[in-house]
Amino acid sequence: MKIRTRYAPSPTGKMHVGNLRSALYEFLIAKHDGGDFMLRIEDTDQERFVEGAVDIIYRTLEKTGLVHDEGPDKDGGYGPYVQSERMKTGIYMKYAKELIDKGEAYYCFCDKERLDSLKTEVVEGKEIRIYDKHCLGLSKEEVEANLKAGKPYVIRQNNPSEGSTTFHDELYGDITVENAQLDDMILIKSDGYPTYNFANVVDDHTMNITHVVRGNEYLSSSPKYQRLYDAFGWQSPVYVHLPLITDENHKKLAKRSGHASFEDLIEQGFLTEAVVNYIALLGWSPEDNREIFTLDELIKEFDYHRISKSPAVFDIVKLRWMNGEYIKAMDFDAFYAIAEEYIRKVITKPMDYRKIAAMVKTRIEVFPDIAGHIDFFQELPEYDVAMYTHKKMKTDAASSLAVLQDILPILEAQDDFSNDALYQTLVGYVEKTGVKNGYVMWPVRTAVSGKQMTPAGATEIMEVLGKEESLSRIRKGIELLKNA
Ligand code: GLU
Repeated sequence: MKIRTRYAPSPTGKMHVGNLRSALYEFLIAKHDGGDFMLRIEDTDQERFVEGAVDIIYRTLEKTGLVHDEGPDKDGGYGPYVQSERMKTGIYMKYAKELIDKGEAYYCFCDKERLDSLKTEVVEGKEIRIYDKHCLGLSKEEVEANLKAGKPYVIRQNNPSEGSTTFHDELYGDITVENAQLDDMILIKSDGYPTYNFANVVDDHTMNITHVVRGNEYLSSSPKYQRLYDAFGWQSPVYVHLPLITDENHKKLAKRSGHASFEDLIEQGFLTEAVVNYIALLGWSPEDNREIFTLDELIKEFDYHRISKSPAVFDIVKLRWMNGEYIKAMDFDAFYAIAEEYIRKVITKPMDYRKIAAMVKTRIEVFPDIAGHIDFFQELPEYDVAMYTHKKMKTDAASSLAVLQDILPILEAQDDFSNDALYQTLVGYVEKTGVKNGYVMWPVRTAVSGKQMTPAGATEIMEVLGKEESLSRIRKGIELLKNA
């Protein structure tokens, strides 16, 4: 049997990390076995529909490389692929009526007032009203009369008060629930739309879906879905309910964390490939401890049996590290194509931006880190004279002043300000005076950068700054040291 998986997002806004993980795992399960990955838009909740959200879904799938084989834009013979369009074909109503005929569902005409008067129960921390099966008692004639009179209605699942239902999840195993605990959930709403609860079953079956991957918030409803499969006499797909994704405080990863959606992460300067790689590891791990994977490698390695049930902590520090690894591995031109904009934001003076980019490539984790490494090129920062004192280099204010005063006229007389030539000059001075390298390099680098840490050495910095600016900074250093 050919594997068929689906990503079934509701177009309600940004692409949450959890949604992207479901999409990725569905994609990987299909592609690992040469199957088909399908996109289905679940827009039956018209109140939650957000304009533009469908575009975000397409854009994200394209950007991340999770190419779907079938979907609203690629007919594979199972369409329509948008639930509001499927509704217009009458498919949900047809199956709901089949359930009514089988005694597995019923019309419910209760108005809001009556529903509001029902007693509440706390289920999984949420207060919900359990429907009391009032309308199950209506006779066939009463139902027909109500329908004829145009009375608004919903269609509910009819769950028995005896027996139990078992369904199987690949990670959680067999889960058995007493039927008496299952509420008569709505299958068709009063606006004629199916609920997610009903549509997911009808669609997964009629679209021949073999594996369903989704968040474990759907676990508690799954016995009700199983009852629908059983009522229809359908085989249910393989279920994989994924563990919760939490923040560092072990709370559900929420919007306010600032990195709950794919778009947030991209805006913060993360690379798409790194994000996809990181998300793959939110609950899944390979047999060895390997962590860096391209999408193709994930396809090869992915095995859903290795998904863990324990909550996956979204660790931004780890993602930053991973992103840094991707940046290091980038081809320089590709890196520069992105880095240039970040450099130009900080440095407006004409300089060799490519040289600056090369200095930071191995030092950053995300592109916005660039600014903090290179700001001194634009403007010499105010710095403390104490920075000239370095124990290991055996330098202090007096030694630094002497070195800078010696070096200044030599550099003034030099036209070639390439890194090589400057290095020769400084090393020549070191050899002549019999001191250690650092004894000279430290004060020069301090003078030209005003910083304790720089992405490159003294001569590379001077090459980028050019002769005039470098000398002016050395003169400033001499002034500062003289006044100390
Ligand atoms: N539309 C549901 C959601 O976005 C899909 C859940 C599922 O994959 O079945 O949460």
